[in-house]
Amino acid sequence: RNKIFKLSTGSKRLDQLLGGGIEAMSITEVFGEFGSGKSQLAHTLCVTTQMPGPNSYLGGKVIFVDTEHTFRPDRIRMIADRFNLNQATVLDNILYARAYNSEHQWELLNHIGEKLHEDPGLYKLLIIDSIMALFRVDFSGLGEITDRQKKLGQMMSRLQKMSEEFNIAVFITNQISSDIRINDMDRATYKPIGGNILAHASTNRIFFQKGQGPLRKAMVFSSTDLEESEEEFIITAGGVDD
Ligand code: ATP
Repeated sequence: RNKIFKLSTGSKRLDQLLGGGIEAMSITEVFGEFGSGKSQLAHTLCVTTQMPGPNSYLGGKVIFVDTEHTFRPDRIRMIADRFNLNQATVLDNILYARAYNSEHQWELLNHIGEKLHEDPGLYKLLIIDSIMALFRVDFSGLGEITDRQKKLGQMMSRLQKMSEEFNIAVFITNQISSDIRINDMDRATYKPIGGNILAHASTNRIFFQKGQGPLRKAMVFSSTDLEESEEEFIITAGGVDD
């Protein structure tokens, strides 16, 4: 288990919450409302993944599947500056793919599988930002939920297999359900979308909540091996930080 590498989020506290960082050979899901910093973390990971780390980790390339046009090369450049890395090199090491519908998102996984097969060990992180957005649009009817969950299940099991076969970390972002419950302590209970299929597929699920200005809170929502705890972090020009 020690040999499984972990990728730093850019925040020591958030890394601690995650038991050291975003773990290889599993799926980490971050969900939260718009602007909570999910994409900011995805961008930060694009850079930190490329840096050497503990356990003889040499750094590696990243695959970014963008479903909502959130990828910002300018953000990557600024984050590269923070870590004293060459902007162009960092960008070159990110394989970017835009998915236009859920079927396309699935097809992209075939191409990604081929890429990972061609260059084993080169890629260390696969990001899907966000996992549900296109499914939500393509299967919006009530009668389509079963079909959606079936396709989603296929995709998640594929991602899990890829993470293990190629020893990569899979990082996905997700939205919160609009069906927000207020509990008896007058606190809103947020739920990720994707139902049981996604709940079972993600090894670690983390909830991001907006705070004042750059402040954010991360909470372990459900995890097979993380303690239920929370940590604060901030978002700066250089990405996720303490
Ligand atoms: P989500 O994916 O969760 O919707 P996001 O990460 O895409 O969120 P953004 O709205 O892009 O959300 O950014 C979230 C916050 O990150 C902003 O409100 C701001 O506080 C901070 N942020 C974004 N870009 C910068 C920057 N260049 N410098 C400093 N802070 C920034």
